[in-house]
Amino acid sequence: MSEKKMIPLGEALEIAGRYRVQSGREKIAFTDSPGRVLAEDIFSDMDMPPFNRSAVDGFACRRADLPGPLTIIETIPAGTYPQKHVSEGECSRIMTGAAVPDGADTVFMVEESREEKGSVTFTGSQTKDNIALRGEDIGSGDRVLTGGRVIRPQDIAVMATVGATEVEVVKKLDIAVISTGDELVEPHKKPGKGEIRNSNAYQLIAQVMRAGANAVYYGIAGDSEEQTAQIVDRAIAECDIVLLTGGVSMGDYDFVPVVLEKAGVEILFDKVAVQPGKPTTLGIHKDAVVFGLPGNPVSAFIQFEIFVRPMIHRSMDSDWKPEIVRMILSDGYSRKRAGRFAWVPVIRNSDGGVIAAEYHGSAHINALPGAYGITGVPVGVHEIKAGEEVDVRFI
Ligand code: AMP
Ligand code: MG
Repeated sequence: MSEKKMIPLGEALEIAGRYRVQSGREKIAFTDSPGRVLAEDIFSDMDMPPFNRSAVDGFACRRADLPGPLTIIETIPAGTYPQKHVSEGECSRIMTGAAVPDGADTVFMVEESREEKGSVTFTGSQTKDNIALRGEDIGSGDRVLTGGRVIRPQDIAVMATVGATEVEVVKKLDIAVISTGDELVEPHKKPGKGEIRNSNAYQLIAQVMRAGANAVYYGIAGDSEEQTAQIVDRAIAECDIVLLTGGVSMGDYDFVPVVLEKAGVEILFDKVAVQPGKPTTLGIHKDAVVFGLPGNPVSAFIQFEIFVRPMIHRSMDSDWKPEIVRMILSDGYSRKRAGRFAWVPVIRNSDGGVIAAEYHGSAHINALPGAYGITGVPVGVHEIKAGEEVDVRFI
């Protein structure tokens, strides 16, 4: 394996950004679509509201006739249609969501009324019209949702409203997850001497699911070239993107680089000037994009977020962007060596800003659950002063 030189994070991101895999399309029930990427624009088949609609329970009348008394000529529950025209001195009792009768331009609320013997008087001082006009929210033929979005619960209400009960979405990519390491046992087992539980695979599977793709788990490859090669070959043939964790350092048992090369993977980079996450490999094969992620769990998590999640979304034609907000760093941050870009987990501070989380390094697995996000410290920056603004990327 020819060793490549360490490249800056920006360059690695730029290289990764040139690649994607192709994704298919499928029609599914809209009720199954939350979290999926919408592959078509959705148009409305009707006006919303479809009729002039009362926003309150009350009485529909002519504003000019207020305060009354007004003769009640009809009762209009939601779901029925008014039969009578409202003329001078008249009103119709109306429920929220019902169609406002012809002739009426105002609905005053039942809370501001006094009724007696078939007539009603407005008791307030002034009233809004309380009428939502036909088509004021959505016009028939309007585009209500644009393809590319990751479908959210509020989109489902829009689909239901316009009758889009079958929607075209992007097929989920299949993402292979492979752990490597003789020291790993699966989480349901108590580790023996020198062993630890395999946390990365399950973290990665959860990250893949959050990115809207399908995780295909291939288990733990021991630290042997043959075993790793066998699993990698299968994963490349069967999946769109292959994720390996561990085995990418320079140790005697780190077989991933040589296995990838023998599998016909072209290595684009294998070392990135970022902390955590230096031993990160990106390779391409005609059948898959392959990531060799670090073995340390914090590194694997962050490199997935920075490299893999955008790759999955891009490949699935999704317009997802990481959520990044500028926030005040309430306390200071400093580091001795500044040769690499650093990701620093941060937590919310009581003053509304953020502070660096307690963090012992890339194996500190419980540093992340409490973290609100990560903030980047560029190469050459040794210190961020208290009160300076930083970009916080939500995790
Ligand atoms: P490696 O790159 O294989 O040398 O792994 C670096 C560190 O990450 C070692 O301490 C490994 O034990 C640990 N590690 C590797 N894979 C996993 C995993 N799947 N789950 C938890 N820790 C891991
Ligand atoms: Mg290992």
